Amino acid sequence: MKKYNFGAGPCILPQEVIEQTAQGVLNLNNIGLSILEISHRSADFQVIIDEAMALLKEILNIPEGYSILFLGGGASSQFAMVPYNFLNKKAGYLDTGVWASKAYESAKVYGDAQVVASSKDKNYTYIPTDYTIPQDLDYFHITTNNTIYGTEINDAKLNEIYKKVGKVPLISDMSSDILSRPIDVSKYDLIYGGAQKNLAPAGVTLIIIKDEFLNKITRELPPMFDYRIHVKNESMYNTPPVLPIYTAMLNLRWLKKNGGIAWIDKRNQEKADLLYGCLDNSKIFRSVAEKEDRSRMNISFVLKDEYQNWQDDFFEFAKQRGMVGLKGHRKVGGFRASCYNAMDVEGVKALVDCIHAYEELKLNK
Ligand SMILES: *Cc1c(COP(=O)(O)O)cnc(C)c1O
Repeated sequence: MKKYNFGAGPCILPQEVIEQTAQGVLNLNNIGLSILEISHRSADFQVIIDEAMALLKEILNIPEGYSILFLGGGASSQFAMVPYNFLNKKAGYLDTGVWASKAYESAKVYGDAQVVASSKDKNYTYIPTDYTIPQDLDYFHITTNNTIYGTEINDAKLNEIYKKVGKVPLISDMSSDILSRPIDVSKYDLIYGGAQKNLAPAGVTLIIIKDEFLNKITRELPPMFDYRIHVKNESMYNTPPVLPIYTAMLNLRWLKKNGGIAWIDKRNQEKADLLYGCLDNSKIFRSVAEKEDRSRMNISFVLKDEYQNWQDDFFEFAKQRGMVGLKGHRKVGGFRASCYNAMDVEGVKALVDCIHAYEELKLNK
């Protein structure tokens, strides 16, 4: 049976990218060696990481004056590295979910970190707008997509933030929506993300950093935790995660070949419209996030109150139809369909059909 992987992360990857990765594991570009066993300093790997960076620059339209890093440690290690490098006096955080507040918790260790606004009062179902950003912050930190709750900062609200930050450097965790939509990189001093949501298998973390911003580092740092060292060494200060970088490069090739950000943006919108449309018309399910703040990547939904006891029954029904990874995060409950880049429209249609069939079965019998 065909499986539809709606898991929140590590996530679905394009089938051809998985096959090409497998080929590289067996015999990389017919050199008679596996990607697993070649030196990260070899010419064979250098062309891979160079191509990954060039593709990323091209696809995300990254301007001059920015460096790209592929490091280990996950987005979670960036929660610490960001304040370690840049929190000198005071930093501000937009608290829009679990990951956003984890980033804040890490920053508190190094100095005066403040929650500038939060949507905790409504269990993170919306993106706050009613706040000002103090102009004496070392940086303001946002999370563009809230993987667990299923909210996303839409373009209009991002534009508001760009206006509000003024001269304060803007930093964003984009783990779960990077490469899913166009983004104006020039508005940010630092962007980071764990690759395992939309780019690659777990193990590599993507960082896009404005070179000028590096001048703001004043604290003495162990080299491994110093952005300047990683930029200077072009992600090779220590052994980078070779295999996930290879898959990232292949995935970027896939994205470019199909039409890049414009293509994926349109496809992601089509998928989200299909699924939210189905939920909005459903008699037994409803979506969780406020309409204008709905995530296109992680679509959270629950059974309406009167049907709550059908939860396990629906999981079983969906499982029979090949739907995998639909369980909502324990903090939200219900269901979450993650519709990352590699999920195609057919996959979302299959889920919509599954929801319709379930309603039919339960309401019309
Ligand atoms: C998954 C996720 C993280 C954590 O990433 P790791 O790479 O596991 O550390 C951080 N932020 C967001 C938005 C996420 O979705």
